[in-house]
Amino acid sequence: MSVQVVKPRIRGFICTNAHPAGCQQNVQNHIDYIKARTTSKPTDLNVLVVGASSGYGLASRIALTWMYGAKSIGVFFERPADSKRTATAGYYNAFALQQLAERDGLFAENLNGDAFSDGIKQEAINRVKRKMGKINMLVYSLASPRRIHPRTGAEHQSVLKPIGQSYTGQTVDLNREVVTDVTIEPASEREIGDTIAVMGGEDLEMWVNALLTEDLLSAESTVVAYTYIGHQLTWPIYRDGTIGKAKEDLEKQINALNTHLSEKLGAHAYLSVNKAVITQASAAIPVVPLYISILNHIMNAQGTNEDAISQMARLFSEHLGPDLTPALDANRRLRLDDRELHSDIVSEVTKRWAEVNSDNFLNLSDYEGFKRGFRNLFGFELESVDYDAPVETELV
Ligand code: NAD
Repeated sequence: MSVQVVKPRIRGFICTNAHPAGCQQNVQNHIDYIKARTTSKPTDLNVLVVGASSGYGLASRIALTWMYGAKSIGVFFERPADSKRTATAGYYNAFALQQLAERDGLFAENLNGDAFSDGIKQEAINRVKRKMGKINMLVYSLASPRRIHPRTGAEHQSVLKPIGQSYTGQTVDLNREVVTDVTIEPASEREIGDTIAVMGGEDLEMWVNALLTEDLLSAESTVVAYTYIGHQLTWPIYRDGTIGKAKEDLEKQINALNTHLSEKLGAHAYLSVNKAVITQASAAIPVVPLYISILNHIMNAQGTNEDAISQMARLFSEHLGPDLTPALDANRRLRLDDRELHSDIVSEVTKRWAEVNSDNFLNLSDYEGFKRGFRNLFGFELESVDYDAPVETELV
């Protein structure tokens, strides 16, 4: 038991605590969003979500659970609370999701541990066998800074760096609240390889093989993983950088898996290209918070903006789900980034990017919205949460 008043501990893009009631409110808001927009179609969909406790993975799980009554096992790697520290936001999110599913008579089970390890894969397999039989959908939404390779024991750290030459671009310094230039030195060959090892396709292949070996993927099942393309101004640090190389590897893996799975089971593997949204992973990428702030300002004004839950509502109501046929681009990818990359939006972002500086960024971008969105991720600054009230932080 640890009952306390929890106030945010934030420095720049790091928040070292989380509010359990605020995180529960976030999950509830996401559920309400889905319930308000979709008529629940109860199905016998069984889903395994890897990276299920925040961002796109959490949103995927909520959409599938409350849209289709899907049974889910969610794998994530989050720190529980102890007597000194709150748990991580992802821990509270997953805890709340499980409780709220139970309340609504739905099945959602959490598995907290390192998804890269053989042990957690085995545990997930045991639970799928016990609780579900087979799965119809694997959602792979991991974003991790490191991976201990289960075969070699080597530790790989992923980095967000350009390749070939250094990159200087604008970014917002959250501590000083100014727009500054940041220069990032190019990655070494080793760093490129390490980033591919963490964020590329090998671990997804291991998950799929582990499920296939145990005959746990049902006929015509779906595997989906997420990637990002984005505006050209982010390319030096994203698409053409180390993370872009890892995503190329993921895409190759998805296409190889698709060939294999369709021959074997009539199943399919897809890559969904999603919009840039405020998550812990995206906030850590230099340049991206300023880009998202400008993008959201423009898309809000147009009424076309989407966050993770609205993107996933669209993915699972229009493309992937029982009786749906996905609309794919020429490279077999789902394009949930269509609104972000609409030519009007792209040219307005380009224009503002050229003008933005410390004096005008509050007018040219939704920086306040970005800050609020970032705090919301940790359960702070949500309406209807009483932040002066003590809360139990050690939830088990
Ligand atoms: P996030 O940081 O919000 O969530 C990452 C998830 O991975 C969490 O559930 C975390 O617990 C889990 N995780 C991390 N390491 C783990 C491990 N070792 N074992 C088990 N779980 C682990 O991330 P996100 O931004 O939602 O990103 C998810 C995916 O979506 C990534 O592939 C990312 O590239 C992609 N994507 C993100 C954006 C964006 O703007 N955020 C845009 C397009 C695509």
